[in-house]
Amino acid sequence: MSPIHPKQTARKEIYSGKIFQMVEDELEHEGRSFARVTVLHPGAAVFLPLDEDNNLLLVRQYRHPIGQMLLEAPAGTLEPNEEPLTCAKREIQEEVGMSAATWTPLGTLYPAPGFCSELQHLFLARDLTPAPDAEQDEDEFIEVVPLSIGEVEEKIHSGEICDAKTIALYYRYLQYI
Ligand SMILES: [Mg+2]
Repeated sequence: MSPIHPKQTARKEIYSGKIFQMVEDELEHEGRSFARVTVLHPGAAVFLPLDEDNNLLLVRQYRHPIGQMLLEAPAGTLEPNEEPLTCAKREIQEEVGMSAATWTPLGTLYPAPGFCSELQHLFLARDLTPAPDAEQDEDEFIEVVPLSIGEVEEKIHSGEICDAKTIALYYRYLQYI
């Protein structure tokens, strides 16, 4: 079977929230119609802060959908029409308590294209300085975890780092250096 690109014939909103919408689309191909539920997401910035001792600054936080603490690259959701780099610069202050003078784009990722339109914009953040005045979002409780390259590798191999964007961004970083 070769892949097809069906035509969208209708859209119905199922849910509209603060961060994303959910829609049910009607698709059609050669007289057959079928429905797909999609999460419409504004996109995100994901970044690896690298400090002067060559540590990558990851964050540990509770992820309610899976009921677990995860160790991840810091990230934030884009505001409407926000540039990804603007978002990354805000989030590195909020989540890591730092600002970065040097930002390097490391491409983009689709984390869940089966049901979600989210596009993640990846960056390496270097030349860090403390930015202690930043306030965390009131519903985010985040611990910053500095890890050497070797420790990140070990935690990916052991499965402790199991967040897809973090593993993919780390791979992009290895290709870059
Ligand atoms: Mg975040």
